[in-house]
Amino acid sequence: MKLHEYQAKEMLAKYGVPVNEGHVAETVEEAVEIARRIGKPVMIKAQVMMGGRGKAGGVKYSKDVEAARENASNILGKLLQNEQNPKGEVVKRVLVADAADIAKEYYLGATVDRGSKSIIVMGSAEGGVEIEQVARDNPEAIIKVHVDPLLGMQDYQARELAFGMGLGEHIRDFTRVAKGLVRVLIDHDASLVEINPLVITTENKLIALDAKMVLDDNGLFRQKWAEEMRDPAEEEESEREAREAGISFVKLDGNIGCMVNGAGLAMATMDTIKEYGGEPANFLDIGGGAREDKVEAALRIILSDPNVKSVMFNIFGGITRGDDVARGIVKVLGQMKPDVPMVVRLVGTNAEEGRRILEDANLMAAKTLDEAAQKAVELANAR
Ligand code: GDP
Ligand code: MG
Repeated sequence: MKLHEYQAKEMLAKYGVPVNEGHVAETVEEAVEIARRIGKPVMIKAQVMMGGRGKAGGVKYSKDVEAARENASNILGKLLQNEQNPKGEVVKRVLVADAADIAKEYYLGATVDRGSKSIIVMGSAEGGVEIEQVARDNPEAIIKVHVDPLLGMQDYQARELAFGMGLGEHIRDFTRVAKGLVRVLIDHDASLVEINPLVITTENKLIALDAKMVLDDNGLFRQKWAEEMRDPAEEEESEREAREAGISFVKLDGNIGCMVNGAGLAMATMDTIKEYGGEPANFLDIGGGAREDKVEAALRIILSDPNVKSVMFNIFGGITRGDDVARGIVKVLGQMKPDVPMVVRLVGTNAEEGRRILEDANLMAAKTLDEAAQKAVELANAR
């Protein structure tokens, strides 16, 4: 789950990271009122969860209240789009923030690094641009330190980053920022916390001007505060349905819908589909012990995607019983009567019974994963 810039900055501020003053407005009048209260030039910033808002015209400097009015009325309600997000997002809220006078922009981010079982903190003097671009064009400009999640960031690590980024002069403030950033990540089960840009102002102060924070959905059960921060407008309908049904679901760009029980099996299924030249339309894991209701929810979600041209079921019966799944599928198909062709591979507990139920209902049953993937690809290509 992603947080908005203003939410991420509030969180960082609580952990001692200096941020510029800002408030959220939903109307032009509210924005004007905030700009008046700040009494200085402000930035009007679209609160949408896509990167590169600046380039898409969603971040505007406003030298006075009148400029703030004009920028707010241009940005609120506008559809923001860029290359990374061609579908775009309509702006419902803006952050009206005290505009800083920037001397130099930096990047500072922390993320979970599974490979090293630690938190990786990255800093760069090439701030303001996307870090992926720096990583591509100028990788040596990124300083990395690995932080033990049990110890948090140590002073020497903050120093290593600061000197590497050319921020030696600001060592004390920088240490507070870097330690705060890492603490925010650890305490909230975040998978990413990023400040871009972190700036030195013309008054020689260190401030976070933009922030991004992503929470690990698997930690949400113990991060109850996050529920209030959820912005329903930011979630695809299908993702919301899946979350409510307890299904893990990620929408992808291909045309073969997949319903699988188990995350590893889901990945193997996608790999096999790709192996036969197909493209999966989603990653969907109904989990262990799934009964009819989950099968039904999953199938509705898959079929609501107009790109789906065939559906492949790959079910490995363990706790989940093959005949249960088969009955779930047949029942749902009876109600929905979809015209999308489907192929089912079912093995494990009660697979024989399951296959019989499917064949009686005229569904294509495959014996192996390869056979199923191949058929699913053929069926999708034929349409
Ligand atoms: P993003 O494009 O979505 O990453 O939005 P940012 O908040 O990072 O803003 C993009 C760019 O706008 C920054 O890299 C800055 O160059 C500029 N910017 C953002 N806030 C301020 C500010 O307070 N003062 C000034 N002068 N520029 C700002
Ligand atoms: Mg930014």
